[in-house]
Amino acid sequence: MTDRLYYHDSFLYDFEAEVNEVLDTPRPALILDRTAFYPTSGGQVFDTGWITTNADAKFKVTEVADTEDGRVIHYLEATKDLNPGDLKPGTRIRGQIDAARRRDHMQQHSGQHVLSAAFIRLYNVPTVSFHMADDYCSIDLDTPTLTQQQIESAERLANEIILENRPVNIRFVTREEAGKLGLRKLPVADRDELRIIDIRDWDLSACGGTHVAQTGQIASVLLRKAEKVRQGWRVEFVAGQRAVSTARRDFTTLTDTAALFSAHIYDVPQQAQKSLDEVRSWRKQWEHSQEELAAAHASALLAETPEINGRRIVVQTLSDREMNFVKLLAQKITRLSPSAIALLATTSPQPSLVFAQSAGQPFDMGALMKETMANLGGRGGGSKDLAQGGLTSADGIADTLTSLAAKLGV
Ligand SMILES: [Zn+2]
Repeated sequence: MTDRLYYHDSFLYDFEAEVNEVLDTPRPALILDRTAFYPTSGGQVFDTGWITTNADAKFKVTEVADTEDGRVIHYLEATKDLNPGDLKPGTRIRGQIDAARRRDHMQQHSGQHVLSAAFIRLYNVPTVSFHMADDYCSIDLDTPTLTQQQIESAERLANEIILENRPVNIRFVTREEAGKLGLRKLPVADRDELRIIDIRDWDLSACGGTHVAQTGQIASVLLRKAEKVRQGWRVEFVAGQRAVSTARRDFTTLTDTAALFSAHIYDVPQQAQKSLDEVRSWRKQWEHSQEELAAAHASALLAETPEINGRRIVVQTLSDREMNFVKLLAQKITRLSPSAIALLATTSPQPSLVFAQSAGQPFDMGALMKETMANLGGRGGGSKDLAQGGLTSADGIADTLTSLAAKLGV
């Protein structure tokens, strides 16, 4: 078992220890007799830092994990000149924790204790799990409903407790004693001795993580997204410096957005709504115009296409038209005339072909499109009466349509 120095002092960033074992894993790793490095567990992620030997070899600790038998593994970065595999059991080392990262974790984790207790005190809603990610944290609450007002009240109360700067003590008690203390959460593991985190007159939890010494060190908690999950509600939050950097990022995003509308940040929702309404209205008008334009264009094309052998074969290559307009045009042509074949193309923005025939005409447009695409090196297909295909180049489109028209006109 590794002696865990962080159990007694979360602010111990610098320690000495002895190498117990050098592990031959895919990543080089060490086991020490004692450590202040926190391994991932209980929702809190691992510490990083450095391990230095007397011979001045300095290794970066990239990850720390628990083993099943209670030891702590320190994964080290191997470099060109330094191989942790050269270390021997018995080597004295100095460990240094990345203090900024540890402080951040202590703020998030302690913030979680304060916040979870606030949800219990206010609404009797227990926290069932805690997750710490790189940029935010979340707790899962065991409740079927959660209102915005409840979220804001819990946030306010948690911040009051932080402001009161209550002491956070570490205590070790027997399981029996713990049962009498009324812990917010009793662990399932059958250990005899439990480590209790005691936020004075606020929260008692069995926890192996690293915490601040006084709630004021959490600085603040900011609740963000809340969403319904399978077994309750997930609430995202950030504490400490993360709360400030997240608020800073939110403000920058909002300011940039407001600048797009030349509006005050608090008017962004109304401005965005107004713009969306305008876009919808314009789109409706635009679609209507496209319909009218396609119908007029179809009439004109049919008028200038003579009927030969009982069929009007309309051949037309357009430019600067979307495929959707070409399809619309094909539909108008084949609906306005009972004997029309439309062989249409657009050369830009995306070279495309559309083939269509009036209902009851004998050809198979889908098969014709597949064959044409195979010749031109594109992809496409469709039904008997309407087919479409896309090409990477507009070269040869007009010639292809002309020769197809000749073929179908026979
Ligand atoms: Zn904890």
